[in-house]
Amino acid sequence: MAINITAHKAVLSQLAPYNARLVAVSKTKPVEDIKAFYEAGQRIFGENYVQELVEKQAQLPADIEWHFIGHLQSNKVKYMAPFVHTIHAVDTLKLLQEISKQAAKHQRTINCLLQVHIAAEETKFGMDRQELQQLLEYWAANAPQFSHVRIAGMMGMATNTTNETQIREEFHQLHQLFGSVKSTFFNNHDYFRELSIGMSADYTIALEEGSTMVRIGSLLFGERNYNGK
Ligand SMILES: *Cc1c(COP(=O)(O)O)cnc(C)c1O
Repeated sequence: MAINITAHKAVLSQLAPYNARLVAVSKTKPVEDIKAFYEAGQRIFGENYVQELVEKQAQLPADIEWHFIGHLQSNKVKYMAPFVHTIHAVDTLKLLQEISKQAAKHQRTINCLLQVHIAAEETKFGMDRQELQQLLEYWAANAPQFSHVRIAGMMGMATNTTNETQIREEFHQLHQLFGSVKSTFFNNHDYFRELSIGMSADYTIALEEGSTMVRIGSLLFGERNYNGK
């Protein structure tokens, strides 16, 4: 096994002064590897693919807090609705409505993070500021449609670059946006408090820029055996 329990300990001690939490990103990795981190005390795991998440969840302890961190199509929400704790990459109104609808069927509330596009790279995922504003205005005006989701914060991914100044600036911008969204839409709502930023390569910068939740895969589980994901 290429897993690194020592790195897990080290990351946890780096997170502690910031009160930030670790989402251990286990995509493509076997359940045995997840069990090893579970035995080391890890309870929050993140997955990117719906079928993989559902298969793993069925084989692993029920007290794992599962986070879905990948791009999610509305028609697949139903498969994870019985158990998923937090969905990190919500970037359309339609998806948020569907999550609420499916969560209601199980009398559950699912935490959702709104994904904002902060990187310089072109990708179709994540909202720009205007789309975010529109989504939140609709949400605020139509609360009954969202009775089974809790907008718990925001999520973003920095540009894949070695330029630390650029990464820091992108995280910084998102943290500022988080603050203004909080004061405009969630002033009296303590549940809006998560800023999901930081991965293996940039989590120390993310912590300095206000991360409350880092999503770390390869540093813990070893490199993944495929490209581009
Ligand atoms: C895969 C993935 C991660 C983890 O990436 P590492 O570089 O392996 O730490 C974090 N966030 C998202 C959205 C991912 O898809």
